[in-house]
Amino acid sequence: MTEHTLTVAGVTVDTRHWIGGERLASAATFTDVSPVDGAVIGEISRGTPQEAEAAVAAAKAAFPGWAATPRAERARLLHAVADGVEKRLEELAIVETTDNGALLRSHRRGVMPRVAHNFRFFADWLLTLGHEDFETRGHTNHVSWDPAGPCVLITPWNAPLMMASWKIAPALAAGNTVVLKPAEWTPLTASLLADIAAEAGLPAGVLNIVQGYGSEVGDALTSHPDVARISFTGSVPTARHIAAQAAPQLTPLSLELGGKSPLLVFADADLDLAADLAVEQYDNAGQVCLAATRILVEESVAEEFTRRFTARAARLRQGDPRDEATDIGPNIHPRQLDKIDGFVQRALAAGARAVVGGHRGEGQYYEPTLLTDVAQDSEIVQEEVFGPVLTLQTFRTEDEAVRLADDTRFGLAATLATGSRERAERVTARLVAGTVWVNCFFVRDLQAPFGGSRQSGVGREGGTWSFDFYCDLKNTVTAPKGWQDH
Ligand code: NAD
Repeated sequence: MTEHTLTVAGVTVDTRHWIGGERLASAATFTDVSPVDGAVIGEISRGTPQEAEAAVAAAKAAFPGWAATPRAERARLLHAVADGVEKRLEELAIVETTDNGALLRSHRRGVMPRVAHNFRFFADWLLTLGHEDFETRGHTNHVSWDPAGPCVLITPWNAPLMMASWKIAPALAAGNTVVLKPAEWTPLTASLLADIAAEAGLPAGVLNIVQGYGSEVGDALTSHPDVARISFTGSVPTARHIAAQAAPQLTPLSLELGGKSPLLVFADADLDLAADLAVEQYDNAGQVCLAATRILVEESVAEEFTRRFTARAARLRQGDPRDEATDIGPNIHPRQLDKIDGFVQRALAAGARAVVGGHRGEGQYYEPTLLTDVAQDSEIVQEEVFGPVLTLQTFRTEDEAVRLADDTRFGLAATLATGSRERAERVTARLVAGTVWVNCFFVRDLQAPFGGSRQSGVGREGGTWSFDFYCDLKNTVTAPKGWQDH
């Protein structure tokens, strides 16, 4: 360990920013704490607007060279980054678990392979991206996908490297350069990614990372006139602030925000499947934007569904996320735990009944909780808790189910459990949601558009939609006349 490194489970992590291909320390630091046991992990460079400026300048300087790099070479370098992620997969998994408390087994087998896949997928998609040509009265139209410029990417703590790679890969594939601002609660794997990118041969300044608090470095990044795109995943209040910062420059934004998604269980559903889907919503201790936290069950099967759900919930093992047998780990931060408990206690005080849980656990853990007897207009039904807290309401008709499902200010996702294809089609058509899962949950293909409606976000990413966002589309119209050359 040196002055600027720390060690997590034998893995050395640089605690400085990564700007223009060099490590840079700030004068001040902030303390990174593990949610697993509350232990201090170490001190991380606490960015200031000065480092934010330097990172944008580095991204701007590197942009012309990277934009002019042939697609095949950009794709090759992104595959090399994916190789590096795969080579260090075990290290990335344990460091991420220590930093954000999500299950090690998920990081090993789901998340980190997906991080590598993000780089490979967008590298390959880049090579298939067409240049469209068509004719207008003898003139040719040529549509090209030009890189936009330096992009600012701001990510949350619930899936740190997964979110970062989901944005970095298409931004770089498109020929842009990047400044990443990881969440201050989870700074570590981004720093490892900088090492991996450097080893892969990514040119200096193509990927830059500024650590620190959003409130301290955010504005310098999001109001910067040299920034061509801002992609943000996080909370609604922060999104509003960022949108206001970007507004004078009219910088295009992609916003992936919160949710309060429903799980609709109809009487014709396979109730075991429905109960499995419901329990899955406790994944990552409920810290998943897509989680279907509002269970809506047809009244005639509500009792039986609840019985099957509670039997499954009782089998969940809560504890150390590094243990392969653990199903639910800690929540990210004491502040977040207070927030979760505040929601639950206010709901209980307002007349809700805890069918499952309803209390804090030991340390930074919150008991998986299911609340019923909740009113549609109550805080617990309308606001995102971002913890292992679900509500259960009943409905009598399909119309009522749709009305309840759709009655929030969000529109990120919806999950249906039904045995009827016709019903699935009818209900899906009426719901406002970026993604609808029918008799499944969390199946995500990178080709699909991903994003939310209403206050769950602005824009879609994934496949072509990512390139739509990260590129400036240009149509060149050329006349058949006027040529002097032979
Ligand atoms: P947050 O808004 O507090 O922070 C997100 C990021 O924004 C962090 O990196 C933070 O440092 C930064 N930030 C904070 N203030 C800033 C400012 N003034 N300028 C620029 N950046 C600033 O959100 P969070 O608590 O980290 O994340 C949880 C939220 O993210 C939840 O609402 C969740 O639903 C949402 N989320 C959405 C998706 C999605 O894809 N829709 C995915 C994951 C999480």
